[in-house]
Amino acid sequence: MVGLQHRSRAVTGAALRADFPVFERPTASGRRLVYLDSAASAQKPRAVIEALAQTYAHHYANVHRGIYELSVDADARYEGARRSVAAFIGADSPREIVFVRNATEAINLVAFSFGRSNVGRDDLVVTTELEHHANLVPWQQLCAATGATLAHVRSTDDGKLDLDDLRSHLERGPKILAVSHVSNALGTINPIAEVTGLGRAAGATVVVDAAQSVPHMPLNVAELGADFVAFSGHKMLGPSGIGVLWGRRALLDAMPPFLTGGSMIRRVTLDGAEWNEVPWKFEAGTPAIAEATGLAAAIDYLEGIGMDGVRAHERELFIAAWSRLGNMPGVRLLGPDDPDEHAGVISFVLDGIHPHDVATILDREGVAVRAGHHCAQPLMDRHGVPATTRASFYLYNDHDDIERLADAIVATQRVFGTA
Ligand code: PMP
Repeated sequence: MVGLQHRSRAVTGAALRADFPVFERPTASGRRLVYLDSAASAQKPRAVIEALAQTYAHHYANVHRGIYELSVDADARYEGARRSVAAFIGADSPREIVFVRNATEAINLVAFSFGRSNVGRDDLVVTTELEHHANLVPWQQLCAATGATLAHVRSTDDGKLDLDDLRSHLERGPKILAVSHVSNALGTINPIAEVTGLGRAAGATVVVDAAQSVPHMPLNVAELGADFVAFSGHKMLGPSGIGVLWGRRALLDAMPPFLTGGSMIRRVTLDGAEWNEVPWKFEAGTPAIAEATGLAAAIDYLEGIGMDGVRAHERELFIAAWSRLGNMPGVRLLGPDDPDEHAGVISFVLDGIHPHDVATILDREGVAVRAGHHCAQPLMDRHGVPATTRASFYLYNDHDDIERLADAIVATQRVFGTA
């Protein structure tokens, strides 16, 4: 693993880009790629790509099955990756780490497995207007299946969670509170420790969608006060196809399995089966073996920089971009303006130009951004827009990227005659 060789590296954007082969790729514009879509998926450093290649080349066999050397090696690396994840988020034990495909699957696992055995028709499930569809639709499905009621905490005009509305929902004693730490669509950082504290004090089981926070800021599950936390490997420099569900051990132990079949059993007869222990009870079938080692390499890389450094860098970029774009005519910014309440994600609308057109012209300038509803249609409805353009930052971005974005916005406004 590469951790030590990266230890104490500063987050400098441009210097770190050398670690990411994608930035060697020429763009049609002839200019260097400005990648501002890390909220959708992050680029991969060489260390992660090499970890995948090494596993496939020299350490690959199925896990949890073989008794031969190669399989034992593969198993050790897979379980080693679980320990890396546990240490990275401050879990009490690797047994609390369930490998899944992505954050979406992690939340579905909780909604199905925990939800269907704990939520009944007289119960209430609370989520919020700020959620990604991944933290909304599984709860809709749970409520449709059980007859439970689903309620949503309102958000404010500047994209924050309305904590008074949260408190009034909690007075109704919900069984589950499902809330994101950071909004992918607006960049809002929710006061998550306060929210989980209120939720648990009200007796709710608290599920935190941390897909946009674990990659970008320190997160310690022991301090967070949640019951479940979900995130994806691909947004934190790791491979796609692997994600994480952290859950309190007692809850995981008590839950029935989600998917069933091989690996998740202790014993099977023709008429029934006994489940394996956690976390393997929730890992049916052959898991993402090489991807787990790639995720461990991503964690090594991030730890070599330090999550405080990653967060500080993105905070600085947010402040610069918010003021640069906010001072441009015809640009409307969404979300809170306080840098302590806003991650490195800026959603904006240009007067008179559809976000898809904005993203198309930006692409011609070599600037990759996301346009659309960002899998948060209720939130778009709430703000009266069908879509926004979203620029999201990571450790390989810098101030020059913000200038390129601003220049490309001016170019777009010229094309549409709105400048
Ligand atoms: N929640 C949030 C806040 C997200 O941003 C995303 C990804 N855009 C997800 C959940 C779902 O992640 P994945 O597609 O990796 O399952």
